[in-house]
Amino acid sequence: MTVKNQPISGNDLARFSGPGTFMRLPSANDLKGLDVAVLGVPMDIGTSWRSGTRFGPKEVRSQSAMIRPYNLGTGAAPFDSLQVADIGDLAINTFSLAASLGIIRESYEAILNYDVMPMAIGGDHSITLPILRAMAARHGQLALVHVDAHADVNDEMFGEKETHGTVFRRAYEEGLIDPAKTYQVGLRGTGYSAEDFTEAAGWGFQQFPAQSLWGRSLASLGTEIRRDIGDVPVYVTFDIDSLDPAFAPGTGTPEIAGLTTPQALELIRSLNGLNIVGCDLVEVSPPYDLSGNTALTAANILFELLCVLPGVNYR
Ligand code: MN
Ligand code: MN
Repeated sequence: MTVKNQPISGNDLARFSGPGTFMRLPSANDLKGLDVAVLGVPMDIGTSWRSGTRFGPKEVRSQSAMIRPYNLGTGAAPFDSLQVADIGDLAINTFSLAASLGIIRESYEAILNYDVMPMAIGGDHSITLPILRAMAARHGQLALVHVDAHADVNDEMFGEKETHGTVFRRAYEEGLIDPAKTYQVGLRGTGYSAEDFTEAAGWGFQQFPAQSLWGRSLASLGTEIRRDIGDVPVYVTFDIDSLDPAFAPGTGTPEIAGLTTPQALELIRSLNGLNIVGCDLVEVSPPYDLSGNTALTAANILFELLCVLPGVNYR
């Protein structure tokens, strides 16, 4: 059996040196033979408040240099069974949101010509719509686990239909996601009207507001979601602003009283066994992340997602 790609060990090369790839994995140009392709989508022109997520991929990769290959919490050993590489950043057009979303979709279509699970580091949340378009074209209608402070179901923002706040209304309208198998976890904050979130509940979205989760373990919710989804291909999109700003201050539209980092791990770990076909981690804004803790948390959440992908060995 050939040995899979491994992160460079901190005992072989100091963690503060070496390649700038995710977890210091090998970089790859060819997707042939890969099970998981980690990629960056360095973009912030779909955001409505504080910018800076264009620096997200670089900073999340930088913080990921600390992560070791075995998950001591779950026993998962993703690099024993999955061939993972970092395929770099998509070449978005930083002057055009529409062009960038087109580039993301085309890039994903090319990636999905291979039997590979894409794992994206954003970027603001607008990147997820073209990703879902390509994913649904490949896998059919998807179940969606959406962890976020915001439902991102606006009809438009400044007349624009494709922004970081409109993603899941478009995905619903276009039939990319099964509304009855769409789970929005961590919603909170203020709205423009009382119906901001509840309209999507009327489409069938299953919504779990943060206040209903305060002080609770999310393991049982995750288990319920897993049972409910069954074998349907599922996409997981994790907006870092789902976490409380005490844990993840470096983001564009922070909302107080959010999820804790342990709750995020409980939720993700309980998704083990699902037919996850791709995932992303979005909205890390390094200019607002003075300690680096947001990017560190994001990098670890991506590792936890890697640990629940189909085919991962548990020791
Ligand atoms: Mn979002
Ligand atoms: Mn959000």
